[in-house]
Amino acid sequence: MAISKEIRQKVRERANYLCEYCHSLEEASAARFEIDHINPRSRGGADDLDNLALACQH
Ligand SMILES: [Zn+2]
Repeated sequence: MAISKEIRQKVRERANYLCEYCHSLEEASAARFEIDHINPRSRGGADDLDNLALACQH
């Protein structure tokens, strides 16, 4: 199941629209940022805010 738009928006706001790994600004990037699972779903990671990070496509 995909992450809901609501959750994506919350992750973006929490990250101040910056990549949580390299702190580049989403607006300055050509590509939309992804919502990354810190603990992957394949290892039981949940779709909660605590387990999600805004990530650029590096
Ligand atoms: Zn980045």
